[in-house]
Amino acid sequence: MMGLAAALHLAQARRSVTLVEAGSELGGLAASCSLGDIHWDRFYHVILSSDENLRGLLSSLSLNEEIRFRRTSTGLQIGGRFQSISTPSELLACRDIPWRAKLGLGRTILASMAKTSIHDLDAETAIDWLTRHSGKKAVDIIWRPLLRAKLGNSADDASALFIWSTLRRLYGVGAGRFGSGQFGYVAGGYRRIISALENRLVQLGVNIIRDWPLANIQYVGQQHVLSSPGQAGIVADRVVLTIPGPIAARACTSLTATERSCLADIEFLGVICVSLLLDQSLTGFYISNLTDEDAPFTGIIEMTNLVDPGTFGGRHLVYLPLYLRSDDPRFALDDRAITDTFTAYLAKLIPGFSAASILATGVNRAAQVLAVPELKRIERIPKLRTTVPGLYLLNGAQIVGGTLNVNETLRHAEESIARLFVDTPGNETRFPAVGLWTRLPPWDDRLAQMENDFLVKNLKHHELLPGSQDKVLDLGCGPGITAQRLMDHVREYVGLDVSIAALARARGRIGAAENVAFLPLDRDWPVSLDVVKGQHFTYILCNSVIQYLPDMASIQSLFRALRNVAAPSARVVIGDIPVRHRFIREAMLLLAQGTRGGFPLQTLSSLFRRVLSQHLHASRAESPTVHDLTQLARAAQEAGFSVEVLPVLTRPSGNRVLLVCRPAQEPGSR
Ligand SMILES: Cc1cc2nc3c(=O)[nH]c(=O)nc-3n(C[C@H](O)[C@H](O)[C@H](O)COP(=O)(O)OP(=O)(O)OC[C@H]3O[C@@H](n4cnc5c(N)ncnc54)[C@H](O)[C@@H]3O)c2cc1C
Repeated sequence: MMGLAAALHLAQARRSVTLVEAGSELGGLAASCSLGDIHWDRFYHVILSSDENLRGLLSSLSLNEEIRFRRTSTGLQIGGRFQSISTPSELLACRDIPWRAKLGLGRTILASMAKTSIHDLDAETAIDWLTRHSGKKAVDIIWRPLLRAKLGNSADDASALFIWSTLRRLYGVGAGRFGSGQFGYVAGGYRRIISALENRLVQLGVNIIRDWPLANIQYVGQQHVLSSPGQAGIVADRVVLTIPGPIAARACTSLTATERSCLADIEFLGVICVSLLLDQSLTGFYISNLTDEDAPFTGIIEMTNLVDPGTFGGRHLVYLPLYLRSDDPRFALDDRAITDTFTAYLAKLIPGFSAASILATGVNRAAQVLAVPELKRIERIPKLRTTVPGLYLLNGAQIVGGTLNVNETLRHAEESIARLFVDTPGNETRFPAVGLWTRLPPWDDRLAQMENDFLVKNLKHHELLPGSQDKVLDLGCGPGITAQRLMDHVREYVGLDVSIAALARARGRIGAAENVAFLPLDRDWPVSLDVVKGQHFTYILCNSVIQYLPDMASIQSLFRALRNVAAPSARVVIGDIPVRHRFIREAMLLLAQGTRGGFPLQTLSSLFRRVLSQHLHASRAESPTVHDLTQLARAAQEAGFSVEVLPVLTRPSGNRVLLVCRPAQEPGSR
């Protein structure tokens, strides 16, 4: 998923991308396999309602509507039977857990919600941290078995960061009650997601090469030469490796010895997972965690307690995972031996289960699933940039304070690609608005909505809304709220933004509308508008953008670029221009408005940062943030526009204007 997501972001940023995969199927751990006549994930996968990046991706692939969420339950083997621990009340009702241990569990969940230094967590073992918060009894009865279920024989070495981030992920589910939330899946499983993603990559021009295991990569003459036994080589300007560290260490012979040993030394946990297609259900739980130390597997995942059994013709899909170190000799056992051992134990564990109810079996193995969350791992995290120019490493071992899941994988890919290819050093200070939308919570677009309400009100008042014949350019389109309002009323709409995250959300919001396109601006020089070079727009909107430009020279460049893409009859609306500076009043009014509107803290803080960033710019003498209208009008006129200044009606602090520019003469004739 990391590689697919990285390819997507690069292709969306109009880079030419070749995606290389060792296997015959895309998706890695999230790929699917056949079991009898069904085809489903080779390892069990669920989606949480809090998986914002994943849901963002799904909505951009028009799959958001295909997610089915269901309330499921979790069982724990205590006192020789499975008991539901899905809700706090079930946990409290569980007779086999002593009261002191129950209280300890509550304290631990609260501790995981509190703000903590991840460096402190990284330096303490999970067992010590859990004992401190839960007490020894709860650790013995519950936590240690659960840690063993997830980390195998690495459980005792794991850092508290692992359990802290796992609890936080689970706590974020649904209504926020531990373990009680909803789990979801996409109809058709991950196979459908990967296939939609592959189609999107192909549409974006990504060249996908399968069955091409990278063996070596050399940096020669400022180019990377990639090779694979018996295959034609590949030459690239830049390479992003999304493979596990030890494989990267073997392939990248141009790295320094220190870099290679940092990658090679990452210890991995792997998984052996038996899949069973049954004609009977085993438990009422989605996950049943085993506490028996002699069990050959560590849990029962009954997929058909989440996925409608009708999907599998009324049969039941069950996974039996065993997590173990990647060098464990059990990886070499043959499928038959593994299946026999696992099913024999299952027959002892589940009354009424017999081998006769098994309709099909499968065994999947992955040796490198998760970097062992050892103590002080933060110090040894491999760097994104290597010492070889243009060679980058992206992998799960770099995810700190998160657990291994697709959502974190997508987030890491998006943030890393933005940092490596888009947020080049210096850009953030030169263009302070860059990243504003990236910092907002993905599902909260209330700030953009508020901006849009304000804008539309003013455009209506001044009779400046675009019409059905207009080809619209929206510079700084954000997460697509304006696009959504305009798309049915205009001929064509092109939205531009510097933020990859905003563009992804805009695409997700609009889906595949034929008259709409969202394109990335060049972050090195967003005022160039090269991305729409040669096109001519009859209506151009540039709202809440100009105040973030760092100097008059960039404003002049923007006006020249706008003139080049403006049709002769165009109206260019430059909105939300601050002309008087009332920082405190503006901040207070906006915050009050946001609080009344029920904005979450993160949105309020972005709002505040936004006003603050304008204020800081305004306080620098050379900054045009608080605009000198005469200078602005002169810059527009010099680029070949006639200019009209209109008052803005409804801004709380009343210190903004709209500038309407119309081409006065042919571009470049001055
Ligand atoms: C049992 C199990 C259950 C899970 N359950 C969930 C869940 O419920 N929800 C959730 O969100 N996540 C879940 N996950 C985690 C999720 O699958 C991973 O977080 C995610 O798929 C990681 O993606 P990745 O790209 O980082 O790694 P991988 O999927 O490992 O991808 C690495 C890719 O690199 C390729 N590769 C390796 N070597 C080479 C080479 N030399 N040349 C070319 N290509 C190479 C591999 O073939 C693979 O495609 C689960 C994982 C497992 C194992």
